[in-house]
Amino acid sequence: MTLDELQTGKNGIVVKVKGRGVFRKRIMDMGFVRGTPVTAVRNAPLKDPVEYRLMDYNITLRRTEARLIEVIPLFDERFHDTDTLISPPQTHEGSLRHHHARGMGRHRSTGGHGVWRWRHRLFDESRRIEVALVGNPNCGKTSIFNLASKAREHVGNYAGVTVGSKMAEFNQGGYTFILTDLPGTYSLSTYSPEELFVRHHMTGNTPDVVINVIDASNLERNFYLTTQLIDMDVPMVIALNMYDELQQTGNKFDYEALSTMLGVPIVPTIGTKGVGIRELFNRVADLYEGRDAVYRHIHITYHTEIEQSIHILQDLIWKLPDFSDRLSSRFFAIKLLEKDVAARKELEQLGNTKELWQQCDQETDRLEHLFGDDTESLITDGRYGFIHGALRETLRQGPKPVLKEQTPTERLDRILTHKWFGFPLFLLFLWIMFQSTFNLGKFPVAWIDAGIGALSGWLSGIMPPGILKDLLVDGIIGGVGGVIVFLPNIMILFLFISLMEDSGYMARVAFIMDKLMHVLGLHGKSFIPLIMGFGCNVPAIMATRTIENRNERLTTMLILPLMSCSARLPVYILIAGALFPGSAGNVIFMLYLTGIALSVVVAIVLKNTIFKKQEAPFVMELPPYRSPRFNASLKHMWFRSQQYLRKMGGVILLASVIIWALGYFPRTNGDTTQQLEHSAIGVIGKTIQPVLSPLGFDWKMTVAVVSGIAAKEVVVSTMGVLYPTDSIDSHLADRLKSARHTQGPRTGQPVFTKPAGLGFLLFVLIYIPCIAVLVTIRREAGGWKWVLLLILYTTTLAWITGWIGYHIGGLIFIS
Ligand code: GDP
Ligand code: MG
Repeated sequence: MTLDELQTGKNGIVVKVKGRGVFRKRIMDMGFVRGTPVTAVRNAPLKDPVEYRLMDYNITLRRTEARLIEVIPLFDERFHDTDTLISPPQTHEGSLRHHHARGMGRHRSTGGHGVWRWRHRLFDESRRIEVALVGNPNCGKTSIFNLASKAREHVGNYAGVTVGSKMAEFNQGGYTFILTDLPGTYSLSTYSPEELFVRHHMTGNTPDVVINVIDASNLERNFYLTTQLIDMDVPMVIALNMYDELQQTGNKFDYEALSTMLGVPIVPTIGTKGVGIRELFNRVADLYEGRDAVYRHIHITYHTEIEQSIHILQDLIWKLPDFSDRLSSRFFAIKLLEKDVAARKELEQLGNTKELWQQCDQETDRLEHLFGDDTESLITDGRYGFIHGALRETLRQGPKPVLKEQTPTERLDRILTHKWFGFPLFLLFLWIMFQSTFNLGKFPVAWIDAGIGALSGWLSGIMPPGILKDLLVDGIIGGVGGVIVFLPNIMILFLFISLMEDSGYMARVAFIMDKLMHVLGLHGKSFIPLIMGFGCNVPAIMATRTIENRNERLTTMLILPLMSCSARLPVYILIAGALFPGSAGNVIFMLYLTGIALSVVVAIVLKNTIFKKQEAPFVMELPPYRSPRFNASLKHMWFRSQQYLRKMGGVILLASVIIWALGYFPRTNGDTTQQLEHSAIGVIGKTIQPVLSPLGFDWKMTVAVVSGIAAKEVVVSTMGVLYPTDSIDSHLADRLKSARHTQGPRTGQPVFTKPAGLGFLLFVLIYIPCIAVLVTIRREAGGWKWVLLLILYTTTLAWITGWIGYHIGGLIFIS
């Protein structure tokens, strides 16, 4: 019987805990382990929750949770007279242990006849394993069922023979298997009665282990169901049936590699001959007993935008009063996005779902707008992407391929994920991206710049001299205006990143990079957040959620800031444009490459120091290409640009005003230059400047990088405020070129020489990321210590690299 049936005051012994991994672990952590006595303290029929006494303490469980704990009732055994039963449960526990230590003697003598019996029953019951056969029609379920149980069920060679389910019991290796042959299904949606039947069997009957039977001669289609079983997180063993047919085709299928990637044991079987059946059920018993080395729960990762929606819905599902981890919130979130009716009905029973439905509609709309496709197809594509990735790494097609004709996607993949061409092609794309960002951006930048110059000139003309005019012209327009001109560059960069993501190319890049990433102790999956980091590190850090392994995720987060984000781009464009006008695009490309190269070094160091543990491999999803819908990508880009604009009105405006005020006060009566030198910011800057002087910085650059911690664009806005305008319309770039050192041995010399510019660019590339990133890392990594580590290593590395850049630059450009 199950624990929820145990009446108030009655005792039972735990036989097993059913259900998915997370739930089982939590319940077992509470102490519901095989052989543990439990008493129902309060169990009113139909009332939730139910209270139990276990060992020394009371625990409340939901009825739905208690239903998944199997017990042997003690009250129906006729041994009320034994001390073990009248006494409270902890004595049970004591006597049980006692029992182990001293044998059965004591209990026999104290009337422990019943103890004998329930111990036997415990042994027997816990060795009964309920197994369900799930798979596509005609994959050989019934054949396996018959072979295992020796029953004479009708084995047919056409779809739909099995209607309803059949059960059989048989013994093997000291276990009793209760085997259910379920109807064949291609999916776990709710389109057909068979599918619904199978799904209900999974959640309602909760088999201990599911055997997913797969037709090895039709892997792609059969694995579709597997991906859903993985989403559902049921304990599972895969029977790779029709293995004879696979062998005949001459294909090489490394199913063991796939098994480690999926975290699911895979046993090859031949249902017509009985090959592998014993082994199959041995693996089932291993899994059941928690002895299987391969088994672990993985996620099928969908597109980042879909993942975001899944997370939002999961959070709301968790808020439903009666929801527990007995069910996978992820499975439900995915099913909701698939507009699955049965999932809706099930969730409705768990509490008020009004907010959830609203959010669900909102997310569905958002995704459908973004991709121009219905969410069902998006999720399906994601699943097939997973399957493609999995098979691409493990299946070598022989003379008679098992996979279908080549689709356009596969043909394109041949080139883009080619062993030799893949990587150079990717570099070429990156190069094009950064060249376009700079060169295409030039023209609109010039227009905006002219507009801002005009605005500033017009304001200076009409406003009376005084603090208000200085604040507007020098503080706000000088600061925010100096940054806003780079909006076109940033939009172009965002457009490229959006196109890469939306077309499915990003997933290929991850695939190409996989081998290389393994050297770094990372998985190719980490590469997607890294590329996203070129846009903005904050969402990229959130995207690391798709990396299940904690060490890998932490490493990825820690090297992410070396992926130069778009906020640093204005600095590069400004400085590279001013100092290396002919080759700015290349300089910027080199900077990005330096960041990537350093991230490699840091990752290797991390792998060999704090993150030594080796981890299991993952499947790399290869979603189908979608011809990048320009509209969707434009929207994507516009959404990101809006955030950039908001930042202008927020942190950058604020920082500009603060920097301006610190430079404006205390007032001296000298000229503008004198004023800045003696202002608060002048004093602060000159105090810190010696630290950065070896890199060729003057005090204003020093202030600029310090204030840039607020947001990287602030580096530019600060320079806009600090390098004063002599004539109204002179560009910031020109102002920089005419700046001179005002202190130290370099007094009088130009500040922005090529070597100094190089040192500055490298320093800005690497040093402390902005506050938003620090806060996000603190939240996602869970601890300030990672933030501290990040600050320390980036600053040190930035200083060293900047110094090297400055000195090497000095050797190259002896101008
Ligand atoms: P079900 O629909 O999943 O229950 O599949 P069945 O057990 O009814 O099998 C469908 C067909 O596949 C039957 O003709 C079986 O004889 C055949 N079959 C089952 N297993 C194997 C196998 O491992 N190899 C080959 N070649 N045929 C098999
Ligand atoms: Mg059948």
